[in-house]
Amino acid sequence: MSMNSANPRLRADVPVVVVVGSGFGGLRVAQRLAKAPVRVAVLDRTNHHLFQPLLYQVATSVLTESDIAFPIRRIFRNQANALVALAEVVAVDRATKTLTFADGTKGPYDWLVLAAGAGSSYFGKDAWKAFAPGMKSLDDATAIRGRILRAFEDAEAETDAQALKAHLTFVVVGGGPTGVELAGAIRELAVEALSRDFRRFDAASTHVILVESADRLLAAMSEQSSSVALDSLRAMGVEVRLNERVTEVFDGGVMLGTERIEADTVVWAAGVAASPLGATLGVPLDRAGRVKVLPDCSVPGSPDVFVIGDMAAQVCARTGQPVPGVAPAAMQMADMVARIIGAESAARTGAKPPRPAFSYFDKGSMATIGRARAVAEVAGLKMRGLLAWLAWLFVHVLLLVGFRNRVFVMLSWGFAYLAFSKGARIITGHTRSRLRAPLGAEMEKLLAQRKLGR
Ligand SMILES: Cc1cc2nc3c(=O)[nH]c(=O)nc-3n(C[C@H](O)[C@H](O)[C@H](O)COP(=O)(O)OP(=O)(O)OC[C@H]3O[C@@H](n4cnc5c(N)ncnc54)[C@H](O)[C@@H]3O)c2cc1C
Repeated sequence: MSMNSANPRLRADVPVVVVVGSGFGGLRVAQRLAKAPVRVAVLDRTNHHLFQPLLYQVATSVLTESDIAFPIRRIFRNQANALVALAEVVAVDRATKTLTFADGTKGPYDWLVLAAGAGSSYFGKDAWKAFAPGMKSLDDATAIRGRILRAFEDAEAETDAQALKAHLTFVVVGGGPTGVELAGAIRELAVEALSRDFRRFDAASTHVILVESADRLLAAMSEQSSSVALDSLRAMGVEVRLNERVTEVFDGGVMLGTERIEADTVVWAAGVAASPLGATLGVPLDRAGRVKVLPDCSVPGSPDVFVIGDMAAQVCARTGQPVPGVAPAAMQMADMVARIIGAESAARTGAKPPRPAFSYFDKGSMATIGRARAVAEVAGLKMRGLLAWLAWLFVHVLLLVGFRNRVFVMLSWGFAYLAFSKGARIITGHTRSRLRAPLGAEMEKLLAQRKLGR
């Protein structure tokens, strides 16, 4: 993709701000530059802004893909200085101020904001990825949904007790918010929604195991919230294994030290690795591959290049604490960077205003565990149960992009809550045929029951 030739709107004599990634950080910075004397090029390798906090609900059939994704072009439809392009950036050359795209073409920038987020980290064991997918994109969530639903279909067709147990065992690795939410949601899917739809096995016997290497869940929250989450998950029937580490992942299960757990479905919610794009900048990175940015979020030696959100290793100027990889942090960095670019573009010939240092305002954190169960910590206030769950619903609906999405998500939640049902139970892609059990005898039994009017 050549930005010069393909996009006439970028040729005007105003600086071009290229924003790579239209997640929470990229979207925000581009929107905040609407009135600045710059052109904004928003590049993303997907055509949608994704609301990652609700990915687990797509993976567990509560919501559909379009409920949590919004077309980027639609968002910038009315922003005159913005241009959207579907493009994957693979490298940055700061010396020539050029980007390289996945198709080998190149494009220039005047200002650059890298907001390409993060992926899953398997702590150097990348071969595990094939057996334990992470949950970062819509493709990941639909693939996990397919695995979960397929495991139940396989269970329905199974005659061997050992294999049946493996079909109905789900291992979630990582006890952060994503792992906690996913483990609770899988158990809820089995008990509430599926148990009435399968006839040959008891879906309520589904075994969900959540493995966490630390001594408590939700390490970023208080000990009180951790123990509420632990109690709630156990009350729902999830087996929580604390202080235990997955030492091997294979096709069909995991090893926890010397213990072998046979499980058809393993989901990875344990580690985060920043976008590999940061490594092409040639500046120091932290252990998670995040760029060690300066207090103004710029890259050392390049005041015209900023890195924000999950790609940035930033320290709060007020507290000296590392800034967490969460959506509000990405948006707050975006606000600051947009202000800097706006102010410096406006004062192109005059003296540049001094740059601020990034300060993170922690708005609190929350995690939902299941129907009317959640924990939330907002402004020093700790909530649990129904109140926390309602706060969680409210905040997530509020943050969703697009009126349609808000309405559809609320309707889907209402339906799931009232009808104990999950509507989006779709398996896409190739479905293996695993019908091993003889169906004939059972069909005859069913027909006989019907004749008898039972
Ligand atoms: C499952 C899950 C649940 C979460 N739950 C919460 C939560 O409850 N609360 C919370 O605050 N945070 C949550 N987070 C974290 C939050 O989503 C991130 O902190 C936030 O999305 C970071 O914003 P970002 O702009 O840095 O990156 P992202 O929002 O990840 O956006 C990155 C964008 O860059 C694009 N991109 C990537 N590479 C390239 C490339 N090479 N070229 C072009 N485009 C590229 C991607 O397609 C994507 O659109 C969750 C994350 C996950 C994965």
